[in-house]
Amino acid sequence: MKIRRLVVLALLLAWASGTSAAAPAPRPADHVIVVMLDGCRPDLLRRARTPNLRALAAAGTTYLQAQTVYPSQTRVAFVSLPTGAYPGSHGIVGGNDVMDAEWKTVGMGDDDPIAAQALVARPTVFEAATAAGLTSLYAAMKGYELVGARGATWTINGKKTLDPAAWKVRYEATAEGSADLAAGYKQLLSRQLLDQTLQIVREKRPNFVIVNLGAADYAAHSFGPESIRYLLTLEYLDGLVGDLLKALDDLGIRQRTAVIVSADHGFSDVDPTRLVAPVADVGGHRLEALAARGIEHYLTNTGGSSMGVYVRDKGRVADAVAALRAEPWCEAVYCQDAKAACDRTLESLHAYFPGRSPDLMVDLDDDAALNFPQPGQHGSLRHDDMSIPLILSGAGVAAGKVAGEARLVDVAPTVMRLLGLPSEGLRPDGRVLEDALRP
Ligand SMILES: [Zn+2]
Repeated sequence: MKIRRLVVLALLLAWASGTSAAAPAPRPADHVIVVMLDGCRPDLLRRARTPNLRALAAAGTTYLQAQTVYPSQTRVAFVSLPTGAYPGSHGIVGGNDVMDAEWKTVGMGDDDPIAAQALVARPTVFEAATAAGLTSLYAAMKGYELVGARGATWTINGKKTLDPAAWKVRYEATAEGSADLAAGYKQLLSRQLLDQTLQIVREKRPNFVIVNLGAADYAAHSFGPESIRYLLTLEYLDGLVGDLLKALDDLGIRQRTAVIVSADHGFSDVDPTRLVAPVADVGGHRLEALAARGIEHYLTNTGGSSMGVYVRDKGRVADAVAALRAEPWCEAVYCQDAKAACDRTLESLHAYFPGRSPDLMVDLDDDAALNFPQPGQHGSLRHDDMSIPLILSGAGVAAGKVAGEARLVDVAPTVMRLLGLPSEGLRPDGRVLEDALRP
C-alpha cells in the first residue's frame, strides 16, 4: 500500500512539474568488451595472419590512423582508456613514481594500484556503469593498469593471479636458456589472463570489460617489434580473440556485445647496446650529462624511448635542457619553462599535470634505449610509438567501415554511448566515435 502511494505521489509530482521521469537512454549494447593488445603496432599487425581480427574488422569499423596518448606508455594509457582523458587531465603522467615538491618519490601503483586510484583526477567508465546499476571487470596483465579501475565491480591483478615462473621472465629473451620457452611463457600469461576473464564473464556476465593481453609487449621488448617472434605472438593473440568470440557465442550473448580491440602504444626498434642510463647506475635514475654539470635530478622511465626528468633547482631547468639537447641520443625535449629552449610545451602534448609532471620529458633517438638493453622500446612521440590499432565490432557498431583518425581517449565516451550511460558521468577529452556507430 505504502509503495503504491509513493508511486502515485511521484507520478503526481512529475505531472505537476510538467516533466515525466527521465527515460533511460537507449542501450545499443548490453555488453562492451575492450581487448587491449599491449604494445601492438598496427602496421605489423597488418603483416600477421589474423583471421579472427580481420573478420571482426570486416563486420565492424576500423580506424587506420588511431593514436595513443603521450608519453606512449602502458601505465598512462591504461588510465586514459577508462577515463577518456589525457594524462595532463587524469594526472597519471608516466613512470613508476613521480617526485613531489619535497623531493620525495610518490608511487604510481606498482605496489598497490587500488590505493593509487585516489591519484586519478577524472571519473571512470567503471564508476558511471556502477552508478547506473551495470557491472564491470578490469583484468590487468601487469597489475598497475588497475590504477584506472576505480569503480569496477571486479578486478583481476595478473601480477598475483598468473603463473609465477612465466611472470618472472616476462621481459626476458630466454628462459632456462631457451628463447622458445621465453616466447611460450609470454603467450601462456595472456592465455591464463583470458581464461580468468572468461570465468568471470561466464559466471557474472559483466556489462563492461577491459582485458589487457600483454604477450605482444613482452615479445617486442625481448625480441624486437620487427622480429618473427613478435609477428607470431600477434598471430597467437588473434587466436585468443577467436576463443573470446567463441565463448560469447556459447553464452548466447555475442549478438548483444560490442567488441573493441586496441592497444596502449606501438613500438620502436632500437639499438639495445646504446644505453642512456643503465640500471646498474643508481638504478637508472641518473644522467651523466646532468650529473657532470652538478644538476641534481631524478629520472623516470616512461617506456624506454622517452623519459621524465625532475630537476631539483628549478632555476637550472634551462641548463638541463641545453645539456640534454647536446646529447647525440636526444631527439626532442618538452617542458613548460619559458626560459628553456624546448621543442614543445608539455601542455601542447596534453601531458602537463601541475605538481606531478616532470620538469621535462625527453624523447630518445631510435638508436638508443633508456635503462634496459632490449631491442624494443616505446614512450616517444614518434609515429611507431604513438600508433595503435582500433577496431570496433558487434552490437551498435556500423559494419564494413574503414575510417581515418581516432584517439585512445575517444574509446571511453564511445563505450558510454554504446552502454547507454549518461554522458555527464564522464569528463573526457575525447569524443564519441560517431562514424563507428550504427545509425
Ligand atoms: Zn604497454
